[in-house]
Amino acid sequence: MRGSGGPRPSGYAARVGRRDVTNLPQSAEVIVVGGGIVGLSVALALAETGAKPLLLEAKSFGGAVTGGSLAAIGTHMHGLAEYEIMAHACDLWRAFADRTGNPFEHNPQGQVGFILDSEGMQSGEGWVNEERALGALCRMLTPAELAEVEPNLTGPVLGATYAPDTATVNPFLATRTVLAEARGAGAVALDHAPVANLLVEAGRIAGVRMEDGTQIHATQVVLASGPWSHEISMRAGIALPLVPRQAQCLATLRQPRDTIRRVVSAVESRGGVASGYTQIQQAASGQILFNTVVDFIEAPRGAKDTVREVPSGFVLSSIDTLGMLFPSLSEVPLLRSWVRFEAVSPDARFLAGPLPCEGLWVCAGDNGSGFCRALMLGRFLAGEITGTSVLDADLQADARSLYAPSRHVEATA
Ligand SMILES: Cc1cc2nc3c(=O)[nH]c(=O)nc-3n(C[C@H](O)[C@H](O)[C@H](O)COP(=O)(O)OP(=O)(O)OC[C@H]3O[C@@H](n4cnc5c(N)ncnc54)[C@H](O)[C@@H]3O)c2cc1C
Repeated sequence: MRGSGGPRPSGYAARVGRRDVTNLPQSAEVIVVGGGIVGLSVALALAETGAKPLLLEAKSFGGAVTGGSLAAIGTHMHGLAEYEIMAHACDLWRAFADRTGNPFEHNPQGQVGFILDSEGMQSGEGWVNEERALGALCRMLTPAELAEVEPNLTGPVLGATYAPDTATVNPFLATRTVLAEARGAGAVALDHAPVANLLVEAGRIAGVRMEDGTQIHATQVVLASGPWSHEISMRAGIALPLVPRQAQCLATLRQPRDTIRRVVSAVESRGGVASGYTQIQQAASGQILFNTVVDFIEAPRGAKDTVREVPSGFVLSSIDTLGMLFPSLSEVPLLRSWVRFEAVSPDARFLAGPLPCEGLWVCAGDNGSGFCRALMLGRFLAGEITGTSVLDADLQADARSLYAPSRHVEATA
């Protein structure tokens, strides 16, 4: 109750969003900056190697793009160069669900890629043939087969791709589970703990300075701060080519179970997400979630720091698309919508690895599928930082070349 007076319970400052600085440690082996799914996965993997990570999150765990995610976990249409490593990323989520008793609703519901024209048909067949050659289970569906797999998708589709092993997880529960497991393995994870600056001494990282001026010393610092990673790295004179891209989602009122059974997505042209993307799925709560990136909407610098309205044009075009694909849903009432910011790199792959300042690392830049990659990236980076083998040696080497920040990053100071 507002203004009710009386004694406050201990820990009050932290619970209302201000951290009691006396709780901050003075040093750590490794500091991870950012408590989205990626930073938490890095902290978990580091803790499992026996390192003692300290994770610092400016606001609340999973409160940025992570909590706004549709969190589909799959390999379909993610790019052939990453196929093997994405398949392993999916295996890690499956194994994590098995190990923890699946408190985060890991659900292997499958994915349908709808096709509206002959160009889409060519693109869909291209994806399926090439992925199958790498061992994927995906296949093409005729309209009749699609009617069995996704009965309410009765719009004017010519056919579909089908990836039976794509799963989804609940993003909030997955975040909580990774956080709990990381803490259980020895990580210290603090929310409402914003990092203001990097401490650099004699050309190498020496720790971080918090917004209140407190210094925390560490010989290794990982920037897992999504689209904010660039601003932080610039304090060590390193520019990261990460652009915050606005991603939007609508959620309807709850609908009967199995109104939509699979993850329903547009078959992508080879241009990837930027060329047009739609993803529709039904949450375990019954809400239908509609996410699209209609064009590359590059957000102005700083936009990610404020909560923004979903543009009305997006709402209207989303309603049109939903009604076109699922005519029985054209009158479904909307409940809410949200905007979040994904960090996108020039080649749409993560930057994960060392930066040109000894002891400084980055793990950011997701092209809209960082949830899927998170556990794998955490293990990759923990292996690189601690020198222990966490991933299979071939996958570790693949990840090192796929995600090396050096492909884009140079020191500017
Ligand atoms: C609508 C939508 C649908 C999506 N669907 C999918 C999907 O189906 N599958 C999939 O794999 N991915 C999906 N994604 C993308 C996925 O959610 C992201 O790739 C992933 O959550 C990125 O996580 P992150 O930890 O890198 O970033 P974030 O969640 O942005 O975490 C970064 C954290 O760093 C913190 N931070 C920033 N500055 C500081 C500082 N100075 N000090 C301390 N902390 C700081 C921030 O507060 C934030 O919590 C979707 C995203 C959206 C918006």
